[in-house]
Amino acid sequence: MESKISPDGKFLCLRCHQKCHLTGQVSDGKLVGIEGATCIKGRTIPDLVYHPDRVLYPQKRVGEKGSGKWERISWEQAIEEIAAKMNEVTDKYGSETIYLSTGSGQKQIGNQACEIGKKFFDTPQTHWGRYTCIIPQATADFGTAGETLAYEYCAEYSKSKLIMLWGANVDLTCPAQARDIREAVRGGTKLIVVDPRAIPMAKKANLWLKIKPGTDTALGLGMINVIINEELYDKDFVKNWTVGFERLKAHVQEFTPAWAAPITDLSEADIIAAARLYAKTPPATLYARTGAAAQQINSSQNARTMACLIGLCGNVDVPGGNIPYLRTFNAKYFYHSYTTRMSLRASPNKENKFFGFGKYPMMHMISMCDMPTCIRGMHDGRTRAAWIVANNLVVSDQDSRMVFEGLKKLKLVVVSDYFMTPTAEVADYVLPACSYAEIDNIVGTFQEPYDYAIAHRKIIEPQGECWDDRKMVIEVGKKMGRGEVFWEDVEDWLDWRLKYLGKTFDEMCNMPDHKIDFPRSYRRYEKSVPGFGTPSGKFEFYSEILDVIGTEPLPTFRENPESPVSSPEIFKEYPFIYMQVRLAGFQHTEGRQIERQRKMHPDPILEMHPDPAGKLGISDGDWVKLQIAEQKYKDKHISFRVKLVDTMHPETVGAAHGWWFPEKPAPEHGAFDSNINALLSMEHGPYEPLVGNIQQRAIACKVTKA
Ligand code: SF4
Repeated sequence: MESKISPDGKFLCLRCHQKCHLTGQVSDGKLVGIEGATCIKGRTIPDLVYHPDRVLYPQKRVGEKGSGKWERISWEQAIEEIAAKMNEVTDKYGSETIYLSTGSGQKQIGNQACEIGKKFFDTPQTHWGRYTCIIPQATADFGTAGETLAYEYCAEYSKSKLIMLWGANVDLTCPAQARDIREAVRGGTKLIVVDPRAIPMAKKANLWLKIKPGTDTALGLGMINVIINEELYDKDFVKNWTVGFERLKAHVQEFTPAWAAPITDLSEADIIAAARLYAKTPPATLYARTGAAAQQINSSQNARTMACLIGLCGNVDVPGGNIPYLRTFNAKYFYHSYTTRMSLRASPNKENKFFGFGKYPMMHMISMCDMPTCIRGMHDGRTRAAWIVANNLVVSDQDSRMVFEGLKKLKLVVVSDYFMTPTAEVADYVLPACSYAEIDNIVGTFQEPYDYAIAHRKIIEPQGECWDDRKMVIEVGKKMGRGEVFWEDVEDWLDWRLKYLGKTFDEMCNMPDHKIDFPRSYRRYEKSVPGFGTPSGKFEFYSEILDVIGTEPLPTFRENPESPVSSPEIFKEYPFIYMQVRLAGFQHTEGRQIERQRKMHPDPILEMHPDPAGKLGISDGDWVKLQIAEQKYKDKHISFRVKLVDTMHPETVGAAHGWWFPEKPAPEHGAFDSNINALLSMEHGPYEPLVGNIQQRAIACKVTKA
């Protein structure tokens, strides 16, 4: 079905998780400006759409993989050939050897394309980049409350008396949230910031806890100790809606603030003050997202500790507290077709072929395969084909060289993206993808003051021969001809997603504001049976699910594999703790070729305290080499330009992830030059027990002048 153009130019920005409502200024069919963008990434959508380097036509590799020799082909040829190769892989090796991947690029479109592919290609191997970021928090929350708890979605900052930002630099990662938080703080809401760096919000905070990276669980346990022993918890909620309180109480007795202080590098007084302030200022919202509860092997324990704090203080599903957002979907059955992750699966006989089957049951539950197995599988034959939607996997996943070489070994690699990336360079086919302004879509958004799903049509015609990522998968799936045609086209898919709401996509586009509201209600556990989606039906301080799957059922602090305590011998040679920082101009690996964004961050920066820098003869602006203790890459380094920051913890250095350089020679485009993933090994653990990622931050490193 041919799609129409939106008459009002309204669409949603998907360049980060904020989903700002934008209006495109369109003149003679050309997007000339954007209204409503909260940040540079929204404002530069026209720069992306008309970028001279944008991939505009289907391309087929004609030389060796990575040789840079491409031939422009028609869509007809691309679909025909890719379908034939997918069938060949399926017949020879099994469809479970096909891996579907998306990162944060093209956001929900990539996710949707993978979900569609799961059905058409009949593979359980899907992976979203966020398995190392939001998923540890989500799985820990599921183990505690059967719900998501500490997402920023649904936050009601204007109703919160206290906001606790735990490793969340919202000004850079979620600018629209930052605006709302600042407004709340101006109105008298108290603010606690937990962050090793003086992020902008730290300056606004009533209490800034300059924590040592990787020690968040210790802080959380110290706070729980105070809240329980001083009886500051919400007695009514704890008595009526939780299980495991007595076990938690006994468990935390040894984890006093005095115990936590030296581990976290915080004062005992500050830990006590944070506990009292959080517990005595309800309703409070605790926002962590991809901060403390991500990219570490202790991520899920950090998240569990936070979840217990939220439950102890009765901040669950109350106005201004932490709102479980999946319930909003469930209430309207929209969830099943919108957050398709749990409802769309490959055929049942593929379930036990899932990478990580039995080992990571909670990942299996949310249908996200084990990445280290998948990447190792590229080398040992368990993975034979990859369909990668807007995911610069070589840069964004750990062990970049292993990913790069692994992709070269596959029978088929299909990449759809806006630009040639190090990942696209080793593909067999590179397909031109539509931007956010060039697609029809439905987006669920959960921002104050209410929740809704919104539909929008494309606001301009696609450039060149760009296609919607979902259309690419549907057309290849149909051409493969292996059975059921699940969706005829993208509009059919969009109609399917709305079926529980009794609307078609077209009808929704014709509604006022194109949206369906989901009125918000609170304390839904009081009205539902069971109250919480846990084995006990209650909020579980002692998590039965985690107990059954063999991880700690009570929040437990483990020293990081590399820390001055666990590996003092490593710290003699590698005396800094590497942490990750975010950049205002880029979302992960995206945007490096967009001039207005790149001007904000021309070089990869390493933040460092002036004292240790001075001892090493390093001045502001110097280029330095960073190395870590990983044996596999001990002779390798990555490079940064130093920025001296006197508010940094002196033992800590911080750099943004995701660096590559479109201007550097193909095929690598500098993918290994300033990217921490180029120094990490996926081949050995320790792995995060619920999610399976390796440690990506809070890593021992050394810095030398280049
Ligand atoms: S904050 Fe920026 S990138 Fe994110 S949705 Fe809004 S305009 Fe887009």
